[in-house]
Amino acid sequence: MHDKLETIYERVLSRNPGETEFHQAVREVLESIGPAIDKHPEYAQARIVERICEPERQVIFRVPWEDDSGDIHINRGFRVEFNSALGPFKGGLRFHPSVLLGTVKFLGFEQVFKNALTGLPIGGGKGGSDFDPRGRSDREVMRFCQSFMLELYRHIGEYTDVPAGDMGVGSRELGYLFGQYKRITNRYESGVLTGKDLAYGGAQVRKEATGYGCTYFVDQVLKARGDSFEGKDVVVSGSGNVALYTIEKVHQLGGRVVAASDSSGFVHDPKGIDLELLKDIKENRRERITSYTDAVPHAELVTDRSIWQVPCQVALPSATQNELDADDAAALARNGCLVVGEGANMPTTPDGVRVLREAGVLFAPGKAANAGGVATSALEMQQNASRDSWSFRYSENRLREIMIDVHDRCHATAEEYGRPGDYVAGANIAGYSRVAEAMLALGLV
Ligand code: GLU
Repeated sequence: MHDKLETIYERVLSRNPGETEFHQAVREVLESIGPAIDKHPEYAQARIVERICEPERQVIFRVPWEDDSGDIHINRGFRVEFNSALGPFKGGLRFHPSVLLGTVKFLGFEQVFKNALTGLPIGGGKGGSDFDPRGRSDREVMRFCQSFMLELYRHIGEYTDVPAGDMGVGSRELGYLFGQYKRITNRYESGVLTGKDLAYGGAQVRKEATGYGCTYFVDQVLKARGDSFEGKDVVVSGSGNVALYTIEKVHQLGGRVVAASDSSGFVHDPKGIDLELLKDIKENRRERITSYTDAVPHAELVTDRSIWQVPCQVALPSATQNELDADDAAALARNGCLVVGEGANMPTTPDGVRVLREAGVLFAPGKAANAGGVATSALEMQQNASRDSWSFRYSENRLREIMIDVHDRCHATAEEYGRPGDYVAGANIAGYSRVAEAMLALGLV
């Protein structure tokens, strides 16, 4: 790492003790933006990197709520408003028992660069809670969301900060959150949240956007080497929104997804995952992936090894952070994998990325490859602001164009800085440069 950046990184470590995922995300960016720092001494003068590493505002709050049997629970809520140089803070809410301040900071930091890469006017932020929606009734989830919003509402707004979903927060949770915001503020402010249901101000393709976008991005990576998804075996981890709609688009583009997973294990279906069945299990029945093999006897259920052992030409980790490590990366490379595209945020460990790079496997980092979700959120904001609603076809075309632009921006930036084919350097330098330029223009704020 560049000397000046090393000093900044040391300071980030000492000021944010114990927040290992945040450190990991900062390190990954600082390791690649050295050439941009050399090229623009005026950015160093304005201390842009130090300012980018410090959130503009961080809110932590108590969320008390009552379960169906009358017991009281206390959870912790977070909103980290990281950077608003390009637009209102924008990023999802994650409800998962593992959520700590450091988790939200890592996600918010990534979001700043991801959002910049979309080319749309959105800053970066993230929020969430250590609340676990799994196994809770709809009414319990509603009471939790209402209590969460009773504090969050004062920090957000369509021109200030626009949350959306992330793990554990889907259209059900967003509905309860929006209903409570509307009631407290007495404003039908549609653009305050994105990922809303189509029934009340949501946008076409938002649900599919992260998965479709990731597939489009990887399609461009393949095209850049004269290849395509046609006839490729693909492994997609996870079975949330991102994974389900990645599988859908991979199948549409001629690939075959042969394995999918959730936290209970993975299924290997060499004939290709039956997506309608998987959607039914996950979206309607809300069951574990183990139900898949009940209906498809030729598929194998595996619970004692990693999904990345399954041979494939394209791997799309779409579950959670640090799910693909150095051993997994080595197995993928050994089995002939050509491309890894991150559907989740930071699913590959730093050692995993190093092993893939050394083996010559192309690597599309999440902040570029999964930018389609937040990009479509920005389209939802546009539709809400103009009280309009676009067709599925038009919205999907816009998403596709945006993902091709994100790809080309990363690709061209990597070439410009002498790192052809290095999508990590391309994404980090391009994202950083856009935010830095805006921050410089806005003065010391
Ligand atoms: N949670 C998604 C992400 O990681 C989407 C955020 C949004 O739409 O604001 O990018």
